[in-house]
Amino acid sequence: MALIVQKFGGTSVGDPEKIKNVARRVLKKQKEGCQMVVVLSAMSGETNRLTDFALQMQDIPDTREMDVLLSSGEQVTISLFAMAVKAFGDDCISFLGDQVKIITDSSHTKARIESIDTERIIENLEAGKIVVVAGFQGVDEQGNITTLGRGGSDTTAVALAAALKADACEIFTDVEGVYTTDPNICDKAKKIDRISYDEMLELASLGAKVLDIRSVTFAKQYNVPIHVRSTFTDTEGTWIVEEDKEMEGRIVSGVTYNKNEARITISGVPDQPGIAAKIFTPISDADIIVDMIIQNQDTGNGLTDMTFTVLRSDFQRTKQLLETIVKKTGATGGIHGSDTITKISIVGVGMRNHSGIASTMFSVLSREGINISMISTSEIKVSCIIEEKYTELAVRTLHDAFELDKDTVPEEETLT
Ligand code: ADP
Ligand code: ASP
Ligand code: MG
Repeated sequence: MALIVQKFGGTSVGDPEKIKNVARRVLKKQKEGCQMVVVLSAMSGETNRLTDFALQMQDIPDTREMDVLLSSGEQVTISLFAMAVKAFGDDCISFLGDQVKIITDSSHTKARIESIDTERIIENLEAGKIVVVAGFQGVDEQGNITTLGRGGSDTTAVALAAALKADACEIFTDVEGVYTTDPNICDKAKKIDRISYDEMLELASLGAKVLDIRSVTFAKQYNVPIHVRSTFTDTEGTWIVEEDKEMEGRIVSGVTYNKNEARITISGVPDQPGIAAKIFTPISDADIIVDMIIQNQDTGNGLTDMTFTVLRSDFQRTKQLLETIVKKTGATGGIHGSDTITKISIVGVGMRNHSGIASTMFSVLSREGINISMISTSEIKVSCIIEEKYTELAVRTLHDAFELDKDTVPEEETLT
C-alpha cells in the first residue's frame, strides 16, 4: 500500500470551508488505497497576526515564548481537519510536533530538525487512520517547543516523507506549481514540469518562496521526489527530482527576486590583512547572516570600500554594531547603506556550459535604465542588487529577454 505525505499551505486551509475541502481531497486519495499523512500550515495570515501581537508585548520578542505563540496556529488547523474527516465518517488523529517527537536543536524561531520518531504515526496508519501533523514545529531535547522558520511546514512534510520512506511527497499550494518566475507578478510566468534539486535550491534561496529552502535540502539529501501542485485544481504540477540531460537544455530556468535584504557600505577601510575578519567576526558573533560581499581594489591611497548585504530585519542592528567596529579598524569614510533594495537573480543549470548569460542580464537591465549596485555569480546563477522600485520591471524584462514563456527547444534542434 502506497504511503503518501500531503502538505497544505496557509491559503489552502484559510477558513473552515477550505479545511473541509482539503479533508475531502485527502479522503479521495485514501480511498484509492493509500495510507495518508497530512501536514498543515496555520490559516493564511495567522502567523503574521500572532507576530504582531508579540511585537506589542516586547520590541524584540523572547524567542522561546515566540515559538510557544507561533506554534499555536498549526494546532488550530490540524484539530479542525481531524474533526472534518470524522464528520465525513472516517478516522483521523492529529499530532503536534512534540507528540511525534520531531526533535530539533534549540535555535528558537529557526530550529533544525534532527530526528523524527515515526512509531506513533505508523501505528495509527496501520490502524487505518489518517494522520495529520502540525507543520513548522518541533521540540528540543529539553522539551521546549521550537519552530522551524517562516515557511517551515514544507520542511516538516519533506522530513516526514524521508523518515517514513513515503512513496510521494505532495506540496499543495495556491499556484499550480513552480513557475519560471512568481506568477503573481508576471502574467507570462510559465509552469515548469520538472526541475532539479540544485536549481530549486537556488530558486528557493534567491526568493521563490513557493518552497522552503530546507525542504529542498532534505529532499535532495534523502532523494525524496516532491510534487508541488494546486489545492484548487487537479492539474499536474511541478516535479522536483534529480537532474537529467533534458534539464541541461534550459539555459535559464527562472527569475527570482528577494526584497528581504539591505545593503551596507563601509568606506575608507585600511587595505590590510585581517581587516575583513575584524569587520565580519563581530557581525557573525551577533548571529547576523551576511550574504553578498564586495571588497574593492585599493585605489592607490591604501584605502578600500567594503559593501555587503544582510537581512533587512538586521539592517539597523548591523549599522549600530558597525559604529564601534569601524572606529577600531580606523576606517575614514563612514557607514552608509539602503534597505530599499532587491536582489534579482536568474537561475539555470544550463549556464554551466554557456557564456554570455550574465552580460545579457546586465544589458537588459541597463536598457531599462536600472542601475546595478552589486553582482554575484555561481555556477548556475547570476544575482544583481537593484533599487526595489524596479523589481517588477526587472522581473518582467528578464523573463522576456530569456524567452522563459516559450517552450524549451532541445539544444540539438537549435543547431540543425
Ligand atoms: P503556502 O502558503 O501554500 O506555503 P506560499 O505563499 O508559501 O504558499 O508559496 C506560494 C507563493 O509563492 C505563490 O503564491 C507565489 O506568489 C510565490 N512564488 C514566488 N516565486 C514563485 C515561483 N517561481 N513559482 C511559483 N510560485 C512562486
Ligand atoms: N505558518 C508558518 C508561516 O506562516 C509556517 C508555514 O506556513 O509553512 O510561516
Ligand atoms: Mg509556504
